[in-house]
Amino acid sequence: MEDQKTPAAPAQGKDFIRTIIDEDQSTGKHAGKVATRFPPEPNGYLHIGHAKSICLNFGVAQEYGGTCNLRFDDTNPLKEDVEYVDSIQADVHWLGFEWAAMYYASDYFERLYSFGETLIRTGKAFVCDLSADDVRAFRGTLTEPGRNSPFRDRSVDESLELFRKMRAGGFEDGSRTLRAKIDMSSPNINLRDPALFRIRKATHHRTGDDWCIYPMYDYAHALSDWIEGITHSLCTLEFEDHRPLYDWCLEALGLENRPRQIEFARLNLTYTILSKRKLLHLVTGGHVRGWDDPRMPTIAGLRRRGFTPEAIRDFCNRIGLAKRDSLVDVALLEHCLREDLNRRAPRFMGVLDPLRVVLTNLPEGVVEELDAVNNPEDPSQGTRKVPFTRVLLIERDDFREVPPPRYHRLSPGQEVRLRWGYLVRCQEVVKDASGTVTEIRCTYDPATRGGDAPEGRKVKGTIHWVSADHARAAEVRLYDRLFVAPEPDVAPEGSDFLSNLNPASLVVSNAARVERAAADAPPGAFFQFERLGYFTVDPDSGPERPVFNRSVSLRDSWAKIEKKTSARR
Ligand code: ATP
Ligand code: MG
Repeated sequence: MEDQKTPAAPAQGKDFIRTIIDEDQSTGKHAGKVATRFPPEPNGYLHIGHAKSICLNFGVAQEYGGTCNLRFDDTNPLKEDVEYVDSIQADVHWLGFEWAAMYYASDYFERLYSFGETLIRTGKAFVCDLSADDVRAFRGTLTEPGRNSPFRDRSVDESLELFRKMRAGGFEDGSRTLRAKIDMSSPNINLRDPALFRIRKATHHRTGDDWCIYPMYDYAHALSDWIEGITHSLCTLEFEDHRPLYDWCLEALGLENRPRQIEFARLNLTYTILSKRKLLHLVTGGHVRGWDDPRMPTIAGLRRRGFTPEAIRDFCNRIGLAKRDSLVDVALLEHCLREDLNRRAPRFMGVLDPLRVVLTNLPEGVVEELDAVNNPEDPSQGTRKVPFTRVLLIERDDFREVPPPRYHRLSPGQEVRLRWGYLVRCQEVVKDASGTVTEIRCTYDPATRGGDAPEGRKVKGTIHWVSADHARAAEVRLYDRLFVAPEPDVAPEGSDFLSNLNPASLVVSNAARVERAAADAPPGAFFQFERLGYFTVDPDSGPERPVFNRSVSLRDSWAKIEKKTSARR
């Protein structure tokens, strides 16, 4: 896998897919129409990789005044479920896209079946009685050609009768298949008489027990695309070797106005697993709390974590499209969220690990209302009042009894600025019997309201704080990467991706105290707690106990990477 640490520049010029569409438009192919589809299998929740495909398919349709369908590729009843169907619709909508029409491959089962009969009648398909093991043995290898099935030359009538009997439930699972008659010596194994239908006596989430034969992916996919009038069928690179079969299905049936399959590289992200099968394993194995656990790369997880559709779409634009697989740095995804929230998120103050500060020269009972700017990046968000009182809480980490060099926060005798407030100086440190600091006593300088230092007084540090009497208790969930390895699939002999799980991917703080307005925000609201990061209100929140997820910290490792690489250029 190629390591792509620098992102593709935001769409300068056109990518290869849009170039192809431009050409088709100029030659009048498809009568100038652009029709795409996003075809998920409802066997799991969508993840950030799917977002790339969604942004591409819906984006292309929008740009060319065309249409994009949502199509559920529901041809494998054993693994599919309506829970997934529902979540997929919700996620596509949430990402900001509207489908022209929604279909299911199962809508086409009857037509796909009759296409099967047509192929038999024209001598292009046959019913094969080989078992799965025999089929494999006859298939050959990459270096050896396969051998024809002994059933390949059975008569059209016999195949037709058997195919009908397969449909009617007359045979056991795995005992027969309908196979295309292509070429057992083709260097492309996908063309060695691939199966088109298999027997599977399973209840389907939509068609119930109507069917006991199900079409295979390549066949169903090509024909569903054609039925819907898709012009450009965009899929990931692993289907490149399937394209000849996709084309064969359309040609063998003599269909006009064929869609064109075009492959692009799938998204791979550092520190992230993007395989539905493995994500399901994380859920069923209890390694995360569910598909929407904020550490999951699913759309539902990212949403709960506090990602915005804007940030995800921006990310998908920036990574661009390539014909070769690459590994994108997850720091770029985080960077896109930071950029979006920096512009839009209101700021509040909150303290994760509180330390009491008593202002000895501010009388008890006095409440001063200070003006705080809601979002320095967006004046239209206005200001709010923040109560300033005798007892405040600051971050324990913002005080050191013995400050290290260049420590600009609070320490004995030193002065610091309280955000939106006054300059305060530490006069006394109170400890308990074990030597733990329990309180610090400070004086504030009434002449410094708003935080302006008088001429000649240098105060470098500014720290956040809340009023002890006004702040509300909250639970804060701090997330880290779910995996410790940049490529979680690379695991030592004898173990798998689970061995790369990060044991500290979630740290919960129950001691936090936050500004009241933040505590009253509804689930899904987002804001910055100054100096701590961007947060969102978790659905677990209640009026008694707000719960915040840290979406992303303020430290931007991507900005650093970008700076370094642009300096090198
Ligand atoms: P997984 O391998 O995670 O199970 P999938 O490819 O089986 O994913 P589908 O439901 O078949 O999932 O995918 C729907 C569409 O999304 C397909 O066109 C597929 O190519 C695309 N897609 C899936 N994963 C990615 C990815 N990581 N990057 C880009 N596109 C993806
Ligand atoms: Mg798939």
